[in-house]
Amino acid sequence: MNTQPPIYVTQPDLPPLEEFMPYLQQIWDSKILTNGGPFHKQLEAELAEYLGVKYISLFTNATIALVTALQSLRISGEVITTPYSFVATAHSLLWNGIKPVFADIDPNTMNLDPARIEAAITPQTTAIMPVHCYGRPCDVDAIQRIADDYNLKVIYDAAHAFGVKQHGHSILQHGDLSVLSFHATKAFNTFEGGAIISPDARTKQHIDHLKNFGFVNETTVVATGINGKMSELNAALGLLQLKHVGKAIARRQEIDALYRALLADVKGIRVLTPAADTVANYSYFPILVEPDYPLSRDAIYQQMKDAGINGRRYFYPLISEFPMYRGLPSASAAQLPVAKEISSKVICLPIYPALSDEDVHRVANLIRQAVMPQLAEPEVSHQNDVAAAGVH
Ligand SMILES: *Cc1c(COP(=O)(O)O)cnc(C)c1O
Repeated sequence: MNTQPPIYVTQPDLPPLEEFMPYLQQIWDSKILTNGGPFHKQLEAELAEYLGVKYISLFTNATIALVTALQSLRISGEVITTPYSFVATAHSLLWNGIKPVFADIDPNTMNLDPARIEAAITPQTTAIMPVHCYGRPCDVDAIQRIADDYNLKVIYDAAHAFGVKQHGHSILQHGDLSVLSFHATKAFNTFEGGAIISPDARTKQHIDHLKNFGFVNETTVVATGINGKMSELNAALGLLQLKHVGKAIARRQEIDALYRALLADVKGIRVLTPAADTVANYSYFPILVEPDYPLSRDAIYQQMKDAGINGRRYFYPLISEFPMYRGLPSASAAQLPVAKEISSKVICLPIYPALSDEDVHRVANLIRQAVMPQLAEPEVSHQNDVAAAGVH
C-alpha cells in the first residue's frame, strides 16, 4: 500500500501570488483587458529578446495559433506531419480542410525522418508540419532542403521548444513559421497561451490581423480572421513568469541529470542522448522500456501508478490511431513502424521545478527495483505504524 503523496508528471510553475498583485492592480486601474494592451506589447518585446527572435505574435493558445499559421500561408491540399505528437498538431490541419499525411519518425530524435518526408510528397503536398518533439531539434537543414527542392512551406509545431537553441541560435528561426505553446503543462506558461514566430515584419502584421478578426483599423476587415488574442491577464502573468523561467529551467536540468545518473545502469531502460550543441529546456524526461527490461512498458507504468507516481505515455496512442485519422492511407501501422515501436515503449517521467531530489530517487528506485530487487525500499515503516496503533 502506498502512503506517500502522489507525484504528478508535471506541475505548473507559478510565481508567488503577491508578486502578481501589482500587475492585477494595474489592469484594474487601466481597465485595459485585451486587444493588444500594454502588457501584451511588453510581453511580445521581452519574449522576442529572451527567445532571440525578432517577430512574435501572442495567441490565446497554440492550437488556434497553428490553425492561424496555416491560414496565413493559405496552405491547402496535403501536409506531411508526424504521428508522434500531441493530437492538436494534426487537428489544426483538419480544421483547415487539409489532409494530413503521416510520415515516420527517426528512432534517435523521435522527430520526422527527412527521408520519409521526401517519400511522402505528392503533387498535392503544399507544406510540412514537423514537431520539435520533447524540445529536441528536428533536422532543420534537411527539412529546409526538401522544402526548397519541392517548393513547400514549413510550419514548425514548436510547442515543446520554448527557449531551445542549437548552434547558438534559436530553433524558432527555422521554416516559414514556428508555433509555441504557453499551456500550463509547458516549460513556460501563461495559464493558457501561445505564439507564432514570423520571419519578417510584414508576415507578423498579417498574422496580427488574422488573430483579430481580420481588422486592420476600426472600419477595415482584410481577411476572414479569428479571435486568437492573448488577454492582458495572461500577458501580465507571462511577464512575471519570464522573470522566474531561467531558475525553473535550471532546476529541470538538475532533475534531468539526476535521472540520467540513477538510470544509467538499468538494463532495458533507454534514455535519450542529449541533442548535439543544443541549449535544452528539459520539459520532458522520456524513457524507453526495451524488451530486455523484466517488465512490459504498461506493467511498469501501472506499478508506478500504484505507487502514486504518475508518468505519462507521451505519445501513445499515435495521432494516426485516433478515429478521425486511422482511415487515412498514411495512418496504417505498417507505414509507421518506428513511431509505432517508440509509442509502445515510452514513458515520460515526472519532471518539474518543484520536484524534490527525494522524489526523483523514489521514481528511479521504483524503475531500478525490477532489475535490482536489493534496491527495494524497506516497506516496514507503514506496517509498523499499523501494528503500533493496534489496528488489524
Ligand atoms: C501542448 C501542445 C499543443 C497545443 O498547445 P495548446 O497551447 O494547449 O493549444 C500543440 N502541439 C504540441 C506538440 C503540444 O505539445
